[in-house]
Amino acid sequence: MKKPRIGIVTLGCPKNATDTEVMLGLLNKEGFQVTFDNDEADICLVNTCAFIEDARKESVRALVEMSAEGKEIVITGCLAQHFKEELLAEIPEARAVVGTGDIGKIVDVVKAISEDSSLRVVEVSDVPNDHDQTVLPRLSIGMGASAYLKIAEGCDHNCSFCIIPILRGRFRSRTIESLVKEASWLVSQGIREIILISQDSTYYGLDIYNRMALADLLRALHEIEGLEWLRIMYFYPTEANDELLETIASLPKVVKYVDIPLQHSHPEILSAMARPQHPEKVIERIRKKIPDCAIRSTFIVGFPGETEEHFEHLAAFIEKHRLDRLGVFTYSKQMEVPSGHMDNQLPEKTKKARRKRLMEIQHQISTERNQALVGREIDVLIETYNEQKNLYVGRSQWDAPEVDNLVYIKDADGDCIIGDFAKVKVEEAKPYDLIGSVVG
Ligand code: SF4
Repeated sequence: MKKPRIGIVTLGCPKNATDTEVMLGLLNKEGFQVTFDNDEADICLVNTCAFIEDARKESVRALVEMSAEGKEIVITGCLAQHFKEELLAEIPEARAVVGTGDIGKIVDVVKAISEDSSLRVVEVSDVPNDHDQTVLPRLSIGMGASAYLKIAEGCDHNCSFCIIPILRGRFRSRTIESLVKEASWLVSQGIREIILISQDSTYYGLDIYNRMALADLLRALHEIEGLEWLRIMYFYPTEANDELLETIASLPKVVKYVDIPLQHSHPEILSAMARPQHPEKVIERIRKKIPDCAIRSTFIVGFPGETEEHFEHLAAFIEKHRLDRLGVFTYSKQMEVPSGHMDNQLPEKTKKARRKRLMEIQHQISTERNQALVGREIDVLIETYNEQKNLYVGRSQWDAPEVDNLVYIKDADGDCIIGDFAKVKVEEAKPYDLIGSVVG
């Protein structure tokens, strides 16, 4: 019997993207043909996101589109974890629903539905607390010379606005041994930058080694020959200890970049969010311990009960601390978590206006920070070539893929190679991009 061809739609965060790569890797290893053209697919795997309302809508839209095209669908990811019954009832084309802790079962699920056309399968563990240290195969869905490495799953915090612990379960670290093995394999496939991801990377190791062990993991990964850049995504404010910051400062391959969601600055809002107080302290410590470090953070505006005074506190905090990279989200109400039941929910109009104001402040900060780089020579990882502008496009160590700035490179002598590094002299600065030429 001919095996069905598998198409893919992947939504949401990088953690979801690595799950997609693992599921495709497992299917590919079992002889299923994977296609990136969904018109050719017999079964389409839709890996969904349910983090905030907009993400849920986007996931539902993708499912509706696939079913309108008459595709058979396997629904995976956070929406599948949370709404398994509803999805099966509402979407007749859904042949299977697979939870966030069950992606290792994808081959059995696809085999079962392709052998019996009347079968509908549900593989969703009530609590997604799988703990598998096996290095699973991965099929790249295209990040060039960079790859994400998921060091842990789930989260042990209880931020009052966040549904992740419900969707992804308790925090489960993978062992250093298993991560070094997977990272070495990625590097052997041509990967130059590895980006460590999880819900809270600074918590790494506490569950399996009884101590926060991210510094040990960094030292172990640093030994991998051929690896050039190691990036960490998502610090938790109270866990960025001195040992970790000093390790980042001392290891040349670890990029000087800290991504630390702070969410707010006002003590009352932080307390309502169940987040740590005094976010300014961690910023000061990072700047002291890691010279020339870019700090990225994200904030939520329009949290229930956020008054003008609370918001002005946040605006002043952002003006004062001048973070290098900033993301601002409007609060998204979800009834599964405590903040959904709090009084004084704010109108969307207020949330959007507050977001706009913070982004305007950041626009000026970002312009000034970029202008300070003019004249400097920086290493850039080349990612694409823009034919229209006749420029190569890459990233500096201070920029993560998909969320941060780009460097546009004039290359008169043909020195740039996609997937390789170039030394670039910065000649021009835009608010969110740099322009320069290859040197040396
Ligand atoms: S630390 Fe992050 S993932 Fe964990 S509960 Fe808080 S916001 Fe959610």
